[in-house]
Amino acid sequence: MNNKFNLLNLDINQLEKIAVDIKLKPFQAKQIYKWLHEKMIRQIDEITNISKESRTLLSEIAYIPYIELKKREISKIDRTEKFLFELNDKNTIETVLLRHKDRNTICVSTQAGCPVKCAFCATGQGTFHRNLDLSEILNQVYIVNRRLSKENTNITNIVFMGMGEPLLNIDTLIESINTFSSEDGINISKRKITISTCGIIPGIERLLENHLPVELAISLHAADDFKRNGIIPINKTYPIDDLLFSLKNYQRLTKRRISFEYILIDDFNLFPEDVNNLRTILKDYDHVLNLIPYNEVEGVPFKRPPENKINNFFNSLKRYGINVTLRREKGSDISGACGQLKEKNRSES
Ligand code: SF4
Repeated sequence: MNNKFNLLNLDINQLEKIAVDIKLKPFQAKQIYKWLHEKMIRQIDEITNISKESRTLLSEIAYIPYIELKKREISKIDRTEKFLFELNDKNTIETVLLRHKDRNTICVSTQAGCPVKCAFCATGQGTFHRNLDLSEILNQVYIVNRRLSKENTNITNIVFMGMGEPLLNIDTLIESINTFSSEDGINISKRKITISTCGIIPGIERLLENHLPVELAISLHAADDFKRNGIIPINKTYPIDDLLFSLKNYQRLTKRRISFEYILIDDFNLFPEDVNNLRTILKDYDHVLNLIPYNEVEGVPFKRPPENKINNFFNSLKRYGINVTLRREKGSDISGACGQLKEKNRSES
C-alpha cells in the first residue's frame, strides 16, 4: 500500500492526472473527488459511476486511507462523544463531537502531541510526535460524519481545537479548510470553521494571504506577558503586544469577531489587575471573551477556582462592558473538555 497514492491527500489537479492514467476523461476526476469528499466513501469499489475496469486500475495505483477507531466514550452529562483514533504509525489522536440543539460541532486534532507545551494542558504534557497529514485530518471528520448520517444528521461546524497547535501545521491546515469548504465536498462554510491558536503570528498572516476568513479563537489565558510566559512558553516568541497588532490586522481585513479564550486558574489569573489588563486588551476589538473554568489534569498543579471566585471575576468584567461569557464545558466526565485531550499511551501508563 505504501507505494500507492493516498487519494485523500490529492487535490483535483492531481486526481485529474490519475484519471488519465486509468483511461478516464479528466473531467471524471471531479466525480471521484465528490465520491471521496462529499459521499465520504471507504472503498474504491463504491465509485459506481466509473467502470469496474477503471475501479480495478485505480485500486492498483491508489487507496482510500483510514484511521482506526479504537475507543468511543459518551458523556452521561451532555452526550458529548470522544473518539480515540490510531494512526498507521500507531500514534493516537482524539476527536470530540459536541452536540447542540441546532448544530453538531466536531473538535479536530492537527498534530499527534503538541510542541507548544502549555503548562496547564494534558496534550502539552506528552511527547510531540508529528504533524498530521491531510487525510488524517479529513478522516476524523468523515468517520464521525458517517456515524451521524445513520441518525439522519451531520456535522455543521468544525473547530480546530483538538490536540496540537493548528497554525504550526499551517500548509495542511489550509488544504483541509479548502477541502471542508469545497462545494464538491462536505461543504462547510468557512464561517463555520474556527481555528483555536495560542497566537502563532506567521500562521495568522498565512490565513490572511490565503483569503481564509475563518473564525479565530485566541487562547489568551493570561493578560500580561509575565504570567502568559509562565503558562504558554511560545509567548516569549510572540508576546501579547505583537499578537494584538496581528489580530488588529486580521479583524480589519476579515471583519470577523475575535474570540479570546481564558481558562480560569485558581490563585493565578482572577485578580483585579487581570480584569484591568483584559479591559485594556479588549477595548479595541469586536470581541467575545470566553471564560472557561479550568478542567483539572492529573499531574498538573493548577486548580479550578471555587464558584464564588468565578462569578466575581465574571461580574467584574461585565461591569466594565466586556462582552464576556462563562462557558460550562461539555464532556468533562470523559476528559473531552478543553485542555484534557491526550495520547492513549500516556493516559494509560
Ligand atoms: S493548549 Fe493547545 S497549544 Fe497549548 S499545549 Fe495544549 S494543544 Fe498545544
